[in-house]
Amino acid sequence: MIFQTFLLKYGEIGIKGKNRHLFEDALVRQVRYALKGIDGEFQVHKSQARIYVDCEGDYDSDEVIAQLKTVFGLVGICPVVRKPDEGFEQLKKDVAAFVDEMYPDKNITFKVEARRSRKSYPLNSMEINYSVGEAVLEAFPEIRVDVHKPDVMIHIEVRNEIYIYSQIIPGPGGMPVGTNGKAMLLLSGGIDSPVAGYMIAKRGVSLEATYFHAPPYTSERAKQKVVDLAKIVAKYAGPIKLNVVNFTDIQLYIYDQCPHDELTIIMRRYMMKIAQHFAGESGCLGLITGESIGQVASQTMQSLAATNEVCTLPVYRPLIGFDKQEIVEVSERIGTYETSIQPFEDCCTIFVAKHPVTKPNIKIIKRSEENLAEKIDELVKTAIETVEVIEVRQA
Ligand code: ATP
Ligand code: MG
Repeated sequence: MIFQTFLLKYGEIGIKGKNRHLFEDALVRQVRYALKGIDGEFQVHKSQARIYVDCEGDYDSDEVIAQLKTVFGLVGICPVVRKPDEGFEQLKKDVAAFVDEMYPDKNITFKVEARRSRKSYPLNSMEINYSVGEAVLEAFPEIRVDVHKPDVMIHIEVRNEIYIYSQIIPGPGGMPVGTNGKAMLLLSGGIDSPVAGYMIAKRGVSLEATYFHAPPYTSERAKQKVVDLAKIVAKYAGPIKLNVVNFTDIQLYIYDQCPHDELTIIMRRYMMKIAQHFAGESGCLGLITGESIGQVASQTMQSLAATNEVCTLPVYRPLIGFDKQEIVEVSERIGTYETSIQPFEDCCTIFVAKHPVTKPNIKIIKRSEENLAEKIDELVKTAIETVEVIEVRQA
């Protein structure tokens, strides 16, 4: 079946009152972004609380649908057969042909649901429902009507042209990216942080990201993996500015000056401080991490408290109550898993202690950090000044 238009439905939440057009405009923008990289010409426009994508040229409907499924804020994607209005007799024929092609097995029940945006149409919705229903019954003797629980709901919209559809493919839900500010994702090459970024973006938040790289302990390949992950997240979240911070000297200095069982916590505190610096520079309203309570020593309640203590911005941890398996499921669904499990070294695993503290005491951690007094400010300043910025767009 060839679909000429996709009718996009969005939820009611967040669209009420004077913010509605902002919500719709952001949704239109994200739909255009999602369709940018694929073959075909797409006219995206909004009308009467719906968004329409009219397709021209050489496009693949399945590819269009796959892309639309990445747009937060959409709850339904309806592939539409669009026909010129050539009178009601023709409309009945068009609907019968639609039913014939979409449902080769006619052992189904159906109902017709018409809606007129063009009120000058000679028949009203009830009359259209009735007469089109009758025409379908006449065309296919096996088919039956069920007005309460039909297997198939055939929607007809009378606009300048006639729109016919019956499928409503679920969208990802959430809110359109760009309607809820921006946050800074601490993005590593692991499984968790890309999922965390996805989940916050789903609530309408644009993302910026920071990755702490430790050459030569972490390779170019490890960095490329993070860029690849950012590209996948950018499919959903829109373009991501990725700050790649050279963390080697800071890490080595901490390694030299502090007790090894506290390394991860102290490193994490410096990561947060530096990410927060970039967040402030670019108007991010919070930090995002992939932490989950108890997953590893650096994510016990005490460790999270010690990490959090250096943060002045809110830290969003959307995976906080997730088990690893639940996180893996989301990462498979959104397409980051295969990249995340590629075996490249992680800057945090290289310097980890055999027996890290699991219940760090903030006072003791701060005392250890006093050993860094001589050089740390200079090292942090250099790390910030030598940041490499990569503008990441969808894969
Ligand atoms: P992930 O799978 O996201 O790497 P993880 O289970 O490996 O998480 P940790 O290594 O303890 O967990 O990291 C916890 C969080 O700290 C990560 O989810 C991420 O947000 C941040 N983080 C860790 N390492 C880095 C890094 N090198 N660059 C940026 N952020 C990092
Ligand atoms: Mg990690």
